Order: sequence, then structure tokens, then C-alpha cells
Amino acid sequence: MSKQVWKIHKDDKVIILAGKDRGKIGRVVKVLRANNQVLVEQVNMVKKHTKPNPYANQPGGIIDKEMPIDVSNVQYVCNACSKPSRLGYRILEDNKKVRYCKKCNETIS
Ligand SMILES: [Zn+2]
Repeated sequence: MSKQVWKIHKDDKVIILAGKDRGKIGRVVKVLRANNQVLVEQVNMVKKHTKPNPYANQPGGIIDKEMPIDVSNVQYVCNACSKPSRLGYRILEDNKKVRYCKKCNETIS
């Protein structure tokens, strides 16, 4: 496993590289490090049947829910240059490690 994968953080914008949502761009809502997966908003949606829950006043039915996808199937999309890009790390003067876009060289917070 390469270290590359954990350059993706929560709230990053990513483009989907494989599967039925290929080409879609979405926001990372959750990073599942243990499984090498990420949950991306409105990507890899599945229909889930839910049981009615009278206590929560929820009717049963079918809801759409995101399923995690493999982190190798997404690529970071840079906010500055709006392009799918690779990320690098650099160390600032105060020893803080930050990510940067290898395309436009912009630091990513
Ligand atoms: Zn960029």
C-alpha cells in the first residue's frame, strides 16, 4: 500500500476514476482509513430499505445512501486550479507539514 492514499482528507473535492460514477466530482464526507475507503457525497448511491421506526416517527421505505468506495478510485481535485491533481507535501518554515498541488503549486489547507 502506498502512502499516497492518505493525502485525501475529509472535505476534499475528488473525482471518481472508476465504476458507475466515473467522472463525477464530489466532496469527501468520511475517510475510512482501516478499509482504504472514502465516502463521497452523492457517489456510489444505493437504495436501502428501512424499517419503520415509530419512536423516531420515521416511516419505513427506501432511502438513498452513499456507500464507501476504494480510495484508489478517486483523485484529488484542486480548488485553486480546478484540475484533478497529485498532491505533495512540503514543510513550512514553522515546521508545519502542508499539502500542495503538484499542478499549480498552490498550498492546500
Ligand atoms: Zn492546483
